[in-house]
Amino acid sequence: MLDTMYKNKNGRKSRSNGGWKKGGTRNGSRFGNNKKRFSGNVIDERLFVNKAQKKEAEEIFEPQYSFASLNINKKLKEAIANHGFEKPTPIQDKAIPVILEGKDVIGLANTGTGKTATFLIPLINKILRFPDEKVLIIVPVRELAIQIQEEFELLVRRMNLSSVVIIGGASMHRQINGLQKRPNVVIGTPGRLKDLVDRKKLKLTQFNNVVLDEADRMLDMGFIADVKAFMALVSEQRQTLLFSATFSNEIERLVKDFMKNPEKISLKTRETSKQIDQNIVRVSSKDDKVEVLHDVLNKSNFEKALVFARTKHGADKLCRKLYQKGFKVDSIHGDKPHNKRQRVLKSFKQSSINILVATDVAARGLDIPNVSHVINFDLPATYDDYIHRIGRTGRADKQGIALTFVG
Ligand code: ADP
Ligand code: MG
Repeated sequence: MLDTMYKNKNGRKSRSNGGWKKGGTRNGSRFGNNKKRFSGNVIDERLFVNKAQKKEAEEIFEPQYSFASLNINKKLKEAIANHGFEKPTPIQDKAIPVILEGKDVIGLANTGTGKTATFLIPLINKILRFPDEKVLIIVPVRELAIQIQEEFELLVRRMNLSSVVIIGGASMHRQINGLQKRPNVVIGTPGRLKDLVDRKKLKLTQFNNVVLDEADRMLDMGFIADVKAFMALVSEQRQTLLFSATFSNEIERLVKDFMKNPEKISLKTRETSKQIDQNIVRVSSKDDKVEVLHDVLNKSNFEKALVFARTKHGADKLCRKLYQKGFKVDSIHGDKPHNKRQRVLKSFKQSSINILVATDVAARGLDIPNVSHVINFDLPATYDDYIHRIGRTGRADKQGIALTFVG
């Protein structure tokens, strides 16, 4: 296990997980045992309250490496600079050199801290050195696959590297054509990947690099069988990388089966990002929740609000009501066709709507610029779900606000 010490600006060393007592937080667990479902009257509301911390000068992170000093391809360094990344984030600083050594890595860091580039940069470098390398990136949601491809394409401009996204709801024909061109990188969701493996259009034996982004979600009940099947098919001589903001001991035991002496690199000093101001909004049974939300939105001077509802139907209903009240709003959930989901997400990204009502389909991994507020109109099912939902705000260097409606 890598030492999690790093130097702050004064040259003092600090333990990145300092401040946590061994053996427990107030929700009764240290990191990674937050999958217990919230139920009825036993919710500890303090979990949803947390004052954001302003960055103190001495807290500003000083990385060990600069991108320029990393032992990576010159063109890639240029692409990183053109992408606007001045210096590595903490997880990038710690994990990129280890991944460059070829080791298997479990990378844990809070939401919005640059985990995508943490795996993309060393893997792109590897492909540039060895053009036969093949990378498979498996993620739980379609929009996340597309987002990772976008970041990949930005980092490999004019390098002649190729990628294909393999996701449900989009043209299979086009994806098969894409695979026939033998792309360096395949980014997909389990359902469509499995479909194309079964049709023998995707030969996993060629893949000697595998990334599970949102790893704990990928190893949840819903995905574990498929992921195990993929892992049995990909090359045995491979590098395997796992990333998430949440991870449990149970998941860690599971991954032993398909990783080789993984190095666990955790930058998590706390469960949620410091940059998110968290609070509750109390609603009594007499209140009309939509009216309360209306008031909250009117008062909060939000730039963009992502509002989470529990069900697809609930999301649509709430979206209709907000629309009737004159808000620029749309909804996203698993029952909407893929192209509609993409359109809605795009209009939210480009700010032609400024409220997006979503189910947990939008909770994991999505990096939407300038989401100022995440509002849990309905409670998330677990504390891990909460962490990912509110992690859509307060990303990179931004501050954010998370409000949770509590009965
Ligand atoms: P995570 O996967 O940890 O939630 P992402 O990889 O989605 O986070 O990155 C969050 C945001 O931070 C993205 O907009 C990304 O472009 C930006 N980012 C990543 N690395 C850097 C960096 N070194 N400097 C500045 N911004 C960065
Ligand atoms: Mg991510």
